[in-house]
Amino acid sequence: MKQYQTRKHVDVAIVGTGFSGLGMAIQLKNRGRDDFVVLEAADELGGTWRDNHYPGCACDVPSHLYSFSFEPNPDWSRMFAPQAEILEYLRHCADKYGIKPHIRYRARVDSAHWDAAAQRWHIRTADGKQLSARVLVSGIGGLSRPVYPDIPGIESFKGKQFHSQQWDHDYDLAGKRVAVIGTGASAIQFVPQIAPQVSQLKLFQRTPPWIIPKPDRAMRWAEKQLFKRLPATQTALRTAIYWQMEARALGFVVDPRLMKLAERWARSHLRKQVPDRTLRDKLKPDYTIGCKRILISNDYYPALSRENVEVVTGGPQEIRAHSVVDQDGHEHEVDAIIFGTGFAATDPIGPLEIRGVNGTDLRDEFSRTGTEAYLGTTVAGFPNLFLLTGPNTGLGHNSMVYMIESQVAYVLDALKTMERRQSESVEVLRSRQETYNETLHGSSAPSVWQSGGCRSWYLDDNGKNVTLWPGFTWQFRRKTARFNAADYQLSDRSRPGVAAPGKPAAA
Ligand code: NAP
Repeated sequence: MKQYQTRKHVDVAIVGTGFSGLGMAIQLKNRGRDDFVVLEAADELGGTWRDNHYPGCACDVPSHLYSFSFEPNPDWSRMFAPQAEILEYLRHCADKYGIKPHIRYRARVDSAHWDAAAQRWHIRTADGKQLSARVLVSGIGGLSRPVYPDIPGIESFKGKQFHSQQWDHDYDLAGKRVAVIGTGASAIQFVPQIAPQVSQLKLFQRTPPWIIPKPDRAMRWAEKQLFKRLPATQTALRTAIYWQMEARALGFVVDPRLMKLAERWARSHLRKQVPDRTLRDKLKPDYTIGCKRILISNDYYPALSRENVEVVTGGPQEIRAHSVVDQDGHEHEVDAIIFGTGFAATDPIGPLEIRGVNGTDLRDEFSRTGTEAYLGTTVAGFPNLFLLTGPNTGLGHNSMVYMIESQVAYVLDALKTMERRQSESVEVLRSRQETYNETLHGSSAPSVWQSGGCRSWYLDDNGKNVTLWPGFTWQFRRKTARFNAADYQLSDRSRPGVAAPGKPAAA
């Protein structure tokens, strides 16, 4: 069993054990491809669902959809399962499909270099170990690297401070004066949980989010039984949820004016939940709904109406030894600061050093192209590298697991194509990548993310959408359904590093 973890040379190396890494590993295993290793930086699997364990952490996509299509879970306790249950689900999947023996824990990948002569990736982990792989699949995800805000004086704070993703459960918040910075998807989940415990909560809101009701409820015993006895009923529920969520893309990509209906819904939610006009005015967004992620919650607004909670608008100006200073210069004394300030989402590779053909650094390549890939998965100059949840594969309206499964199927077809064509490597043609991105960014320009009057992590510093798929998810699935060899240069197995005659053009 242990042999997979200790191998020095493997066919496929996967980085990460979240939905992406495990999804890839499971499908390799299902096809009898055992020669792979999964490199995991931590000592436990689970990716974002292991790392985020703040109070109230739960999925904001219904769990019957936010799960692998091949592994439905009839036992989800709620429509929107809590973090611990999703993590347990991932552990179950790794167990059931025999992935655990393939996982190498405490193996943080530092660098990967493409060796053109050997047609392999040389991978180095932080503990100094090395291995080589023919194919490298990154499953590190865009929401794994927490970002602390650039607020003057942040390092001078003498109290307790932590990011939502690095929650310190040993720190007792009871009776403490706490500042929360940020009002995104994470903050709206933990603020209602901690508000009743703390003595005072100062919520620093730079931009109010649009919030709609969360259609959450506990799953009934009879429903779970039905899903177990008649699995088609759970499939039907999954399909219904998928199309309901997919319909939201009409407003995102077809015509932002359609978002007016959603705005009306969100405004009425705010009116119903916040009776106080002054507070309501603070919480009213002034940009088009959907420009930032639409949040869902039934308990966030009521928490803000509590006597011990104050919404401070504008974002902090400065942090001092025992206080946070607001935009009006007013000093708020606090014992602790919790940062709900999000992740480095526009950077798909994080600290990884990936060097492709001629030693080109992927980071430099991304700076040159503006973080572009072909189908969000492959990059010219980087043979046999596949980025799961790569550039422009993120979603603001539906389940990421659907996108991940589309990409995994694409990688599997690439491997099959290499075998059929007797090629050691595939490298996307630069011209195909460029044409693809011209079309993609052309269609993204009129979207609500760029024209909705807000700044979000969907866009890079130049205002370019580098994270979101600007269309329907079924369109992405159609595009990734088949690996088209005509989009790639395929190497000749008998002459490593050399493209086979006529191969790039062949379909
Ligand atoms: P986020 O959506 O990026 O929100 C970050 C918040 O911090 C925003 O309110 C932002 O304000 C604020 N902020 C950043 N820098 C600031 C500064 N210098 N001063 C004041 N405020 C500052 O991060 P997140 O809430 O962690 O969520 C990230 C993503 O994770 C989500 O969009 C979602 O995709 C995912 N997520 C998913 C779930 C789920 O249930 N599936 C749950 C949590 C998170 P501005 O708006 O003004 O920039």
